[in-house]
Amino acid sequence: MEARHDVLVVGAGCAGMRAAIEAHDAGADVALVSKLHPTRSHSGAAEGGINAALGNAAEDSPEKHAFDTVKGSDYLGDQDAIEVFTAEAPGDIYQLEHWGCVFSRTPDGKLAQRPFGAAGSPRTVFAADITGHVLLHVLYEQVMRRSIPTYEEYFAYELVVDGGRCRGVVCWDLMRGGVKALGAKTVVLATGGIGRIYRATTNAWACTGDGMSMALRAGVPLKDMEFMQFHPTTLYPSGILITEGCRGEGGYLLNKDGERFMARYAPNALELASRDVVSRSEQTEIDAGRGVNGSVLLDLRHLGAEKILERLPGSRELAMTYAGVDPIYDPIPVRPGAHYSMGGIETDNQGATELPGLYAAGEVACVSVHGANRLGGNSLMETITFGRRAGQAAAEQALSDSSVPSVSDAAVADAERAIAELTGRANGERPHAIRDELGTSMLENFGVFRREEQMLAERDIVAGLRERYRNVVVEDKGDVFNNDLTQAIELGALLDLAACMIEGGIARKESRGAHARPYDYPTRDDEGFLKHSVVTWEDGGPKLGYKPVRMTKWEPQERKY
Ligand SMILES: Cc1cc2nc3c(=O)[nH]c(=O)nc-3n(C[C@H](O)[C@H](O)[C@H](O)COP(=O)(O)OP(=O)(O)OC[C@H]3O[C@@H](n4cnc5c(N)ncnc54)[C@H](O)[C@@H]3O)c2cc1C
Repeated sequence: MEARHDVLVVGAGCAGMRAAIEAHDAGADVALVSKLHPTRSHSGAAEGGINAALGNAAEDSPEKHAFDTVKGSDYLGDQDAIEVFTAEAPGDIYQLEHWGCVFSRTPDGKLAQRPFGAAGSPRTVFAADITGHVLLHVLYEQVMRRSIPTYEEYFAYELVVDGGRCRGVVCWDLMRGGVKALGAKTVVLATGGIGRIYRATTNAWACTGDGMSMALRAGVPLKDMEFMQFHPTTLYPSGILITEGCRGEGGYLLNKDGERFMARYAPNALELASRDVVSRSEQTEIDAGRGVNGSVLLDLRHLGAEKILERLPGSRELAMTYAGVDPIYDPIPVRPGAHYSMGGIETDNQGATELPGLYAAGEVACVSVHGANRLGGNSLMETITFGRRAGQAAAEQALSDSSVPSVSDAAVADAERAIAELTGRANGERPHAIRDELGTSMLENFGVFRREEQMLAERDIVAGLRERYRNVVVEDKGDVFNNDLTQAIELGALLDLAACMIEGGIARKESRGAHARPYDYPTRDDEGFLKHSVVTWEDGGPKLGYKPVRMTKWEPQERKY
């Protein structure tokens, strides 16, 4: 065994680093494991901001934030988790500020807050449009200040389970090659999302659902996997995100006739309706032939150069570099793109999973704060608030445990055998074609709108791809930075998770949040489906069950924006 710690946090984005800081401050010997250098984690791409009811721009309260989140979730979010989240968010923001986050400010020196979709009050704290970058770097400073060790460029691919408890992780050392086993009394998974299941996505190449897949294979249930958020403004043609902050600052959406079409779909909230509503409206316009090259137009021109340069400089740069459009003078072509997984590893409000000793936080987890549709700005906040909670709980459990964690030689040998099987195969198919087919077919058959026959077809397609994957070949036989190997492992994760999503989607015979079935089940069915779907992996495939939604005080109502 390479090393042992009280707490191992796998993933060094916002959730992972926040968890590690908290575990350290609680007195635990904690280490981070990351397949990327921490500041290359995908949290750094977050642009628009982070939600907390500070009330700096207009009257606000955690209660209002909670209601907006419950409504935005299409009533699938667990209300006790949401109340904890919104109550603790303001304190977490001030903590970040005291650590050095340079948030944008009002003229009188308070933290500025911008409006975001489906928020009853402007509550999104931001640092221009590079909020994730600022958070990630400040958290990394705090990690370094505490000298928290980081196993950088370690690719975790197997949880160690012994005696019914999680006791560590098995990793592949990307820089030097070789299997490395790390023992721990508790493990926190913070490995981020799964956007790369889709061809058109805002997510980085590394967002491949490794943590969800590791948990699934260890028998831990995943929750609400059918709910994939499509963000309304991703750049045509690259899929790069243009932040909701553009609409928060007053940007309009136009169709090819120059019509501000959101007035027909959400007459009150217009462009600031919830993301599922705006994405569906855009897709309807595009499908009806009122788009421009498969896109609609995001118009910022009326905001003026000064505001664009001060509040949205990153978005302008992205539009100029990747679409050849300067938003000061021309509208930006945008369309819905796969963005955020509401589903993930089922946890309680402390981040604990069903497997003793295993915790999860951030996009990899499903607490569930977001239910069927996440509000913009709530995800960064979730990484911080539930990262902190998971780090605290994982440390407490570890510190109350006097055993010495170890990883058996047999577990290491099994892991080595699995890698050798992949690298040792001489003939077969390389992973990239399977990955491309997965991304393209998921976009076509499991996207913004879902049809029964397409979902059934996609189930067969994914089954076929999984069959082909059994024969996948890794051509690079080397040890050092063998991306061929890691991408093959990531593809296995993506395929299994796609199967879980489709299973959940076929069975959910209603339209709720991001799961829209306008052709056969156009409305929400609270009688039949006000419940979480829960999937486990049994006999080589997904097995579906359900769990009740935890309600406190908000009865489901019709959502109007
Ligand atoms: C372009 C974009 C803009 C966004 N803007 C906003 C916004 O303005 N506001 C908001 O609230 N939300 C936003 N989101 C969503 C939000 O940024 C993410 O949900 C959140 O940052 C995820 O953080 P995380 O810590 O869970 O995961 P990540 O930041 O993705 O970190 C995952 C970590 O896990 C590690 N890892 C993964 N797999 C392995 C493995 N096998 N072995 C070892 N390590 C591994 C990675 O190296 C990385 O360190 C945005 C998302 C995108 C894509």
